[in-house]
Amino acid sequence: MDIAHTIAEARRFGAAARAAGRTVGLVPTMGALHEGHYSLIRRCRTECSCTIVSIFVNPAQFGPAEDFAGYPRPFDADTDACRRLGTDLLFAPESREMYPRDQLAWANVEKLTRHLCGTRRPDHYRGVCTVVLKLCNILTPARAYFGQKDAQQLAVIQRLAADLNLGVEIVPCPTVREPDGLALSSRNRYLSHDQRRQAPCLCRALFHARDLLGAGQTDSAAIIAAMTKLIQEQPQAQIDYISIVDRDLLQPIPRIDRPALIALAVHLGPARLIDNLPVDPPPAKTLEYCRDV
Ligand code: AMP
Repeated sequence: MDIAHTIAEARRFGAAARAAGRTVGLVPTMGALHEGHYSLIRRCRTECSCTIVSIFVNPAQFGPAEDFAGYPRPFDADTDACRRLGTDLLFAPESREMYPRDQLAWANVEKLTRHLCGTRRPDHYRGVCTVVLKLCNILTPARAYFGQKDAQQLAVIQRLAADLNLGVEIVPCPTVREPDGLALSSRNRYLSHDQRRQAPCLCRALFHARDLLGAGQTDSAAIIAAMTKLIQEQPQAQIDYISIVDRDLLQPIPRIDRPALIALAVHLGPARLIDNLPVDPPPAKTLEYCRDV
């Protein structure tokens, strides 16, 4: 496995891979790798002849009061994991390599970034879009792999790639969960033993919402109220948001009458955890009078 810390090295590697006729796949991460990241890398390995993993804790996507400084950076363990998984290039630049001066040019996706995590993290997606665009410009991958765990990020990047003609296929990958349902996240390591025990309340609320929908409840407010009640049973859980939005533009919908996303963010001690579930409206009931036709 090659390791590049500079843009020039990474650019050379990507160009050489392309010139050799290899299909370059990119897995962008912030490190502290876990099975969720591994699943993206494995998928990339099966679909591409050259797998590049980037590890970059991107300062531009953290707000001033967020955990940029304390974000876990276990670089040696991450390097071992990438090597073990058959990564061809690990690109791990420093902040000053990616942002050598005041950044004046930004990439952004409007509308999709307004709700959900965008409400409390106003510049977050601008930072995400900009770094993904930089990585694509540097490495020129044919495909890039993103987790559905970060459903809003995935939708925003898909729109960025489409609207700015990036020429990169964005490949969505399913959320990897712990046996108790908790979505794997680098931030789970912030949780105390007690908080970890409470953390599956996010997925339990989502699964409860799916059951309600299955039983015919399509009213967003009623579903959100039931989810809120479930989460509030956990003493340390503080709800940031619970939202039901359409899957196209991520706008809140009063009723699940089209493909939707149920998404939530919950603070548990030092960690802000997110999770989501895509759902579809229940099939329209067969009309009584159709039976005899
Ligand atoms: P991060 O390092 O948190 O920026 O995540 C890097 C990529 O891994 C993103 O595309 C995430 O959506 C994806 N990812 C993180 N956690 C999971 C998970 N539990 N399952 C699947 N993908 C994940």
